[in-house]
Amino acid sequence: MKSAEIRQKFLDFFASKGHSVVASSSLIPGSDPTIMFTVAGMVQFKDVFLGNEKRAYTRAVTSQKCLRAGGKHNDLENVGYTARHHTFFEMLGNFSFGDYFKRDAISYAWEFLTSPQWLGLPKDKLMVTVYASDDEAFDIWNKEVGVPADKIVRIGDNKGAPYASDNFWAMGDTGPCGPCTEIFYDHGPEIPGGPPGSPDEDGDRYIEIWNNVFMQFNRDESGTMHPLPKPSVDTGMGLERLSAVLQHVHTNYETDTFVALLKAAARETGVPYNQETPSLKVIADHIRACAFLVADDVLPSNEGRGYVLRRIIRRAVRHGYKLGQKGMFFHKLVPDLAAVMGDAYPELVAKQDRIIAALKHEEEQFARTLETGMNLLDKALEGGKQQLDGKTAFTLHSTYGFPIDLTADICRERNIALDEAGYQRELADEQERGRKDRGNTQLANVEYEGADTCFEGYVEVSVDAKVLALYKEG
Ligand code: ATP
Ligand code: MG
Ligand code: MG
Ligand code: MG
Repeated sequence: MKSAEIRQKFLDFFASKGHSVVASSSLIPGSDPTIMFTVAGMVQFKDVFLGNEKRAYTRAVTSQKCLRAGGKHNDLENVGYTARHHTFFEMLGNFSFGDYFKRDAISYAWEFLTSPQWLGLPKDKLMVTVYASDDEAFDIWNKEVGVPADKIVRIGDNKGAPYASDNFWAMGDTGPCGPCTEIFYDHGPEIPGGPPGSPDEDGDRYIEIWNNVFMQFNRDESGTMHPLPKPSVDTGMGLERLSAVLQHVHTNYETDTFVALLKAAARETGVPYNQETPSLKVIADHIRACAFLVADDVLPSNEGRGYVLRRIIRRAVRHGYKLGQKGMFFHKLVPDLAAVMGDAYPELVAKQDRIIAALKHEEEQFARTLETGMNLLDKALEGGKQQLDGKTAFTLHSTYGFPIDLTADICRERNIALDEAGYQRELADEQERGRKDRGNTQLANVEYEGADTCFEGYVEVSVDAKVLALYKEG
């Protein structure tokens, strides 16, 4: 079953259960200052959960564009290393706003996954977790759905801190949250990793496919939990993970969408196609995040969301360089992406030229310094050094446009340490110098009246005027 078909089945199933099909919202959460990106399907419904907004429906279903590359939910460092994490991914979700609660949520999820009429997954491959003290959810799974007790794991506040556990889901540091129950798929004993709740649960044998959150609280800045006006349901299932299960492959990168992107990445970097090459996986993942971010009006810059975008583009470009591609390649993957995802997300097609222009421009900028930066880095490590010093990391950042996470990515790959504290000291000194310089400037009463710029070394400019114009023209 192709990813597109799976997405459609999910929407159809919940529509048949009285859910309104709602379109994905932008990756940029409307006016919500508490999070940088849409990290889950519930983000566009936050105010509905809180009782501040009323909709014409009390049940909704979506396939939501999500990005986890900063803040509380950040999977950037997992990409290329695990079978299951992306920066950009699609979350399938059903929602109840004070309508049904635990019993229906659990039985809908089970029906969709296991009924031969829908996905027909083998029941013995599934395992579930519940919040440690949630006897109600345990009993529904066990007594009503018929999942054997040894396939239900209680996971709770085991880390001492309140709600630090995995089975209490929260959108951010504040906002809607609640206990949850998760469904895992066992990809088989040949893959390393233990069941949820075991010491080696982080392996990729048992992969979490679906989280059902019982939204019951709103957490405020002080950490106090206030009950929501009505108990609600918020669920999220990664389309890529579900596709892997249904396409009988282990990793998300072996699914239809990703095979197409990996092949395109191999073509543009000039290496043989291979699903095991981490750099190809990173590039295939990052082209999605970057293209969708530009489609949602983010442009590379030196701060906020734009800086997250810049960092992701530069990481991808550096992985291309690692594969031996020293020329421009990343923006050339946009048409391949539009070909595989453009039907579901027409903005990829409509804004294709703008996306290509923005990515190409950023690639051009970084191309000017990448090679010299890499040489500097190699030189600093000469003689088999086991740690990259903070001063070099800072120079790479300030002069060669290497964001610190990119340098950390290289160090991790080479199995050497990075003196991040040293880097931070250099950065703080630089900021201090900047403050002093600005003080002097004010004394001299000189005011800058040009376009907005941001200092990041000698070769950086902020958003290029040409790209910006193109982008404004729409
Ligand atoms: P994991 O423990 O595997 O990191 P999670 O518990 O952080 O996942 P949730 O916040 O519960 O994930 O999100 C709901 C669902 O979204 C998950 O069950 C999974 O199917 C999917 N998902 C979460 N993070 C990612 C990601 N980075 N890439 C792809 N799918 C994801
Ligand atoms: Mg996670
Ligand atoms: Mg999890
Ligand atoms: Mg989860």
